Amino acid sequence: MKLIMLGAPGAGKGTQAARVAVELQIPHISTGDIFRANIKNGTELGKKAKAFMDAGKLVPDELTCDLVADRIAKDDCANGFILDGFPRTIPQAEALDKVLVSRGEKVDYAVNIDVPDEAIISRMSGRRACVTCGATYHIQFNPPKKEGICDNCGGELILREDDKPETVKTRLNVYHEQTQPLIDFYQAKGVLVTVDGTQALDDVFKAVLAKIGK
Ligand SMILES: [Zn+2]
Repeated sequence: MKLIMLGAPGAGKGTQAARVAVELQIPHISTGDIFRANIKNGTELGKKAKAFMDAGKLVPDELTCDLVADRIAKDDCANGFILDGFPRTIPQAEALDKVLVSRGEKVDYAVNIDVPDEAIISRMSGRRACVTCGATYHIQFNPPKKEGICDNCGGELILREDDKPETVKTRLNVYHEQTQPLIDFYQAKGVLVTVDGTQALDDVFKAVLAKIGK
């Protein structure tokens, strides 16, 4: 089964993708992992990607697509895969389609983990990170033993700039601008399924499996 996961930053998309991958025994593929693996192994594509990243530039769509195409052609993807963080744009989605069509394949489902912005903003504002060791907590879901103090090292816990409501809002706006067209794209192909991501993690997981007929 070939799956794409869509969901705002903080919607829990990565967590669900990882669980679904284990359940269906297909690889969970994130573009970050592909970049790191290719750079580590010194592949031609990896060298190209690294040049952009070292220059502080975004890796262009075409190169990202080549890296993904290369990854999903590997043996472990014979029974499918779950893509997390790709495609992000319509050109990327079209490029992915082209690769799959050339192999007589297609995306089976695009799973949209739907969480309202306000819920994401409130979740993120509960995160805390240790300034000393980087350990992360959540005041509601994973609190430290002592408020404001890291269990690991006794360091101070802070709300990171990235998790502050203003920052999260900006990121969500960018996400919606980029992703709404993708949602429409997969809807038009009849492969979009939407799951309520505000439920407990286990319930989201079960709902995803039910929607994809597993
Ligand atoms: Zn710490």
